[in-house]
Amino acid sequence: MSRNLELFERGKQVIPGGVNSPVRAFGQVGGTPRFVKRAAGAYFWDADDKQYLDYVGSWGPAILGHAHPEVIKAVQDAAAGGLSFGAPTEGEVEIAEEICKLLPSVQQLRLVSSGTEATMSAIRLARGFTGRDLIVKFEGCYHGHSDSLLVKAGSGLLTFGNPSSGGVPADTTKHTLVLQYNDVQQLADTFKELGDKIACVILEPIAGNMNLIKPSAEFVQALRALTEQYGAVLIYDEVMTGFRVALNCAQGLHGITPDLTTLGKVVGGGMPLAAFGGRADIMAKIAPLGNVYQAGTLSGNPLAVAAGLTTLRLIQQPGFHDNLGRLSARLAAGLADAAREAGVPMTTDSVGGMFGFYFSSKVPASYAEATQCDIPRFKAFFHAMLDEGVYLAPSAYEAGFTSSAHTEALIDQTIAAARRALARI
Ligand code: PLP
Repeated sequence: MSRNLELFERGKQVIPGGVNSPVRAFGQVGGTPRFVKRAAGAYFWDADDKQYLDYVGSWGPAILGHAHPEVIKAVQDAAAGGLSFGAPTEGEVEIAEEICKLLPSVQQLRLVSSGTEATMSAIRLARGFTGRDLIVKFEGCYHGHSDSLLVKAGSGLLTFGNPSSGGVPADTTKHTLVLQYNDVQQLADTFKELGDKIACVILEPIAGNMNLIKPSAEFVQALRALTEQYGAVLIYDEVMTGFRVALNCAQGLHGITPDLTTLGKVVGGGMPLAAFGGRADIMAKIAPLGNVYQAGTLSGNPLAVAAGLTTLRLIQQPGFHDNLGRLSARLAAGLADAAREAGVPMTTDSVGGMFGFYFSSKVPASYAEATQCDIPRFKAFFHAMLDEGVYLAPSAYEAGFTSSAHTEALIDQTIAAARRALARI
């Protein structure tokens, strides 16, 4: 028996589904999850010592590749000075200064330990600031697993969402409106009817949780204009896109100044660190200054701050994001060519260190379109690539991630592997 399978079976005895986050269980693609033994650069090695070229990168944090020596050294040095204090440190001030410097919309921020905490806290803050209850999200955007965000669209236009998970009271989700991504008319209609009751709109400014989906310029402009007009808080959830699509994030690419931004993944360099921040007048509502409560035993953890700060400094090297963008674009173009040659309907897209491939004849613009792709073909491709030693996200609804360790030569090897895989499936 493979060691991966052995660990999976053992894990299932003591961990529900054998995993600590559902997508890791390979539910959509079937087969045995790869248990990671170690990772370095663009690669990881599984429990059977098989090597994989990794395009998941811990679902986003590994923008410098795995185990970057400078990041590891910073964490080791921090660890030697103590693991957690529950009192402020200089590093927390430094990383906050660094983020505020890189993101002009963020005047103040607070550190937390996960993206879920960041979005949950930003929503509480938006509600506390506006004194309103309603929140707007978009179908297919994932913002972590807090109750009010685990919501799927209701049955019609302007109906409130239904819980998308057991254990979430309908009473909680009745305050969440779920709209369609890139639907400007629906957004405008919603604000016309309920605008003065809406506390905030939260979105993935480039969606990566329904495969890779970009917003139209009209959509992001309408979002900014309508939230401003009706006094609602615009929250850019950049947990995934932050410092990955560009140094000034998706908001920089869009030329939009959101009121609040949530960050995670890259900002912690692989350690549990996330943040929410934005306009100083809104942030002033957070305790201890204001009456919106938010706290955390491990918030601003010194090891996480050391990893994050080192990562943020390294990605500011000149040309870092241009190079990353070129690598992703090369991969996207190469995959599309390979599919064309194989006669397989597949389109691709990329931005910065994110890419998407869709077993469908057009690049999707919404969740409804994303779900039109050919799932059986995706599964076959996923496993064929796994056999080739290329690890893609084990779900058709997740974006892929590149890192600065994915050299042009590795991208070209991946394209060659895809050509063989597509010919086989
Ligand atoms: N927001 C976005 C856009 C995400 O992609 C994720 C996680 O993938 C989250 C929030 C939640 O972050 P975490 O898994 O750190 O709680």
